[in-house]
Amino acid sequence: MPQKNNTSQNASAGDSEVSNLLAEAGQSSHESEFFSPIPKGYIPGRHKYVAVLGTVMSGLGKGIFSSSLAKLLKDKGLKVEPIKMEGYLNIDSGTLNPYRHGEVFVLDDGMETDMDLGTYERILDQNLGGANFTTSGQIYRRVLDKERHGGYLGRDVQMIPHVTGEVKYNLRKLAMDKDADVVFIEVGGTVGDFENGFYIEALRELAFEEGEEGVCFVALTYVIEPQALGEQKSKAAQLGLKKLMEAGIQPHLVACRGHNEIEETALEKIAMFSNVPKRRCFSMHDRKSIYTIPESMREAGLDREVLTRLGLHDRVNQRHEDKAREDWRVFVSKLTSPRKFQAKIGITGKYAKIRDAYASIDKALEHCGAHLSVDLDVRWLDTTEMDETDVTRELEQLDGIIVPGGFGKRGTEGKIACIKYCRENALPYLGICLGFQMAVVEFARHVCGLTDAGSTEFDPKSPHPVIDILPEQKKIEGLGGNMRLGGKDVQVKADTLASFLFDEQNMIRARFRHRFEVDPKYIDKLEEHGMIFSGRHPQQPIMQMLELPTKMHPYFIGAQFHPELTSRPLEPQPMFMGLVAAAIQHANPQVDPAEITSRWLPPTLPTTPVEA
Ligand code: GLN
Repeated sequence: MPQKNNTSQNASAGDSEVSNLLAEAGQSSHESEFFSPIPKGYIPGRHKYVAVLGTVMSGLGKGIFSSSLAKLLKDKGLKVEPIKMEGYLNIDSGTLNPYRHGEVFVLDDGMETDMDLGTYERILDQNLGGANFTTSGQIYRRVLDKERHGGYLGRDVQMIPHVTGEVKYNLRKLAMDKDADVVFIEVGGTVGDFENGFYIEALRELAFEEGEEGVCFVALTYVIEPQALGEQKSKAAQLGLKKLMEAGIQPHLVACRGHNEIEETALEKIAMFSNVPKRRCFSMHDRKSIYTIPESMREAGLDREVLTRLGLHDRVNQRHEDKAREDWRVFVSKLTSPRKFQAKIGITGKYAKIRDAYASIDKALEHCGAHLSVDLDVRWLDTTEMDETDVTRELEQLDGIIVPGGFGKRGTEGKIACIKYCRENALPYLGICLGFQMAVVEFARHVCGLTDAGSTEFDPKSPHPVIDILPEQKKIEGLGGNMRLGGKDVQVKADTLASFLFDEQNMIRARFRHRFEVDPKYIDKLEEHGMIFSGRHPQQPIMQMLELPTKMHPYFIGAQFHPELTSRPLEPQPMFMGLVAAAIQHANPQVDPAEITSRWLPPTLPTTPVEA
């Protein structure tokens, strides 16, 4: 059923506070206590909101829960837009240490966000932008800017209504600009935290203003199961939910996290103490794969409960849902069935012990593993202390290597040694950003004879700075906001490995986050010695992909961009697929390549690696 033209039918909130506020917006509102700026053209009742709030503790997988629920609605043909609201004061995540906060996820419009945005993009298979992410810093900055420009008509600017007003304005603006049926709001942190209190208050106000069918509140909570007791305890969950209710929010749905499936008695207690009928209390226990969560939510009927709460049943497109469910089912079955092959992939990483710092790489490999039916044994290699002997000892056991993005000198010589090993020993290689740059340094040193080639990031006085700061960036100083960021077009050279992987498209889009690049004056020399720059900026001499000819090396490729950021469960990223396919072949030399995949292994079979 088409859903876009039945707006008036669903715009039933004519009696909501929003209608009053809109009526008021025509006049000056400075006498009103209800300062709540509504974007011009906002249609009351057209857009709905689901707010997901965490209780008891953080780290429960709010993003996974929220994106899975959003996916269920998207599958039904509804237009969904997620937004993550962070409590911290940083304007974006660009300056956050991935060691502490997980990777910095870059969106197509260049916004540097929390890794949760990656979860949303992957689960929803949808590109997001800056409007899908906000921090307290952004909110306060806008309020203060407005104040300096006389935007508050002589009033004293307060947390309520002005800061909360700004939050509501942003949510409605997102809904309106994207014509979303449902906006999924995930508030960072836990109910009761000082720094997200104003978000929670803003959501309470939003629900009041939008009226009965406007907002659905979902509380995520945690059921404790102390080992010594061997039974589930719901008290902390009850107290957490009470805290939410004290803030004036009655949840409509409760999702209970826990290691084991939440028992009926615990669910009953939680239902009783939170006024939420048991059919709307969901056990979100640990499972083998997070990708099975959407389907189990569906089985538990959560999607219907949300539709009912928001009055959205008549916007559902059943055919769309059937198709989306089937596609997902096929992926989940690939993911959960026994794998045909095994292969070992090494990832060099300064943050080797902290997987979150490389979350998207981990996910991209997971997608490829499912599609190519391979069990990937991922090994993290700390290259800080590695010399050539260590490199040989470690790498001769592996079937493929990734040198991921990174900043700073630490471990770079070890990475270069790993790349040298890959090049000389026909070991499949994927270099990402820093891994691309280090492949250039390695090739310049050991193949082109520029023995002291380097990057000015680590060696400002390098006699052969094959990697140098971008000319356009040279004028900018200091950290933060001075990187080449976001989605950009990459021109792909015909008849190359890259062209093979990207299905002979001559232009692709990829996401960047870097300051340094190949110095154009070395391009000719590198190419004369056999390196191919198979991806370039469409106008400027910025090198974006490199490779070695497939007749010299089975799989050696690098990207100045971050391919991991655009890998999706149903559409894994081609450079990763190529690497994993080559790794399977490396691990199973006796197997006919056609049995591994005819799509991702380049037709030219490997002969000998490039010699110096
Ligand atoms: N440090 C390198 C640069 O700034 C690489 C960045 C990265 O790997 N993301 O260009």
